[in-house]
Amino acid sequence: MIITKPKPMAQVMRCLAGIQRVFLVGCGECATTCMTGGAEQIQEMKAKLEAEGKEVVGSFVGESDCHILDMKRQVRLNKEAADKAEAFLVLSCGAGVQTFSEILDKPVYAANDTMFLGNIQRFGVFAERCSLCGDCVLNETGGICPVTNCPKGLLNGPCGGMNKGMCEVNQERECAWVMIYKRLLLLNQLDKMKTPLAAKNYATSNKPHSLTLERKKGGAA
Ligand code: SF4
Ligand code: SF4
Repeated sequence: MIITKPKPMAQVMRCLAGIQRVFLVGCGECATTCMTGGAEQIQEMKAKLEAEGKEVVGSFVGESDCHILDMKRQVRLNKEAADKAEAFLVLSCGAGVQTFSEILDKPVYAANDTMFLGNIQRFGVFAERCSLCGDCVLNETGGICPVTNCPKGLLNGPCGGMNKGMCEVNQERECAWVMIYKRLLLLNQLDKMKTPLAAKNYATSNKPHSLTLERKKGGAA
């Protein structure tokens, strides 16, 4: 899921300077789980804006704000209030915010900072495991990503700074390559470490990415 944290309120208020009527949008997916854009946070934001003298003319929590067609439909369903708004404030990740920039001809502002693709360790605790590099090496590294778990993204063993198994960049974390070694040992796949990984194809990281699924006969993707 996409991990977000709320922007400082002073920053949000700076964006809304000179704007009176605001429409709020939350997101029912990641931002709800991160508690940055669910129904509760929409109500909290409404109260904060009203305390600052703004008028919240409408709001909804989209099922997934990154679904452009569905958000178009949601805005149509809220047309009267949306037309009154001078600006939209979106409590989602940056992708969700840009859905609304794409479909609205009025200012759209982000209430959150978007941080990383995260796994949920337990309620309210998220950890980055994948940097979305587009050229995955997990099959060679025991299912542990060196691109993400090593701050230097090293592909073929530890750097010289590794100290007693710990990472030189963050000494509270085990070196990614120690983790990979232990995992391959457990799986009886240590031989994999004898084959160097090729330099990564960072062309796969060129942005912006897009993907169109090919449709098979019969209509299924
Ligand atoms: S190598 Fe790491 S960053 Fe790249 S796709 Fe695999 S898990 Fe994600
Ligand atoms: S100590 Fe290990 S995880 Fe840390 S930067 Fe060096 S190779 Fe990467």
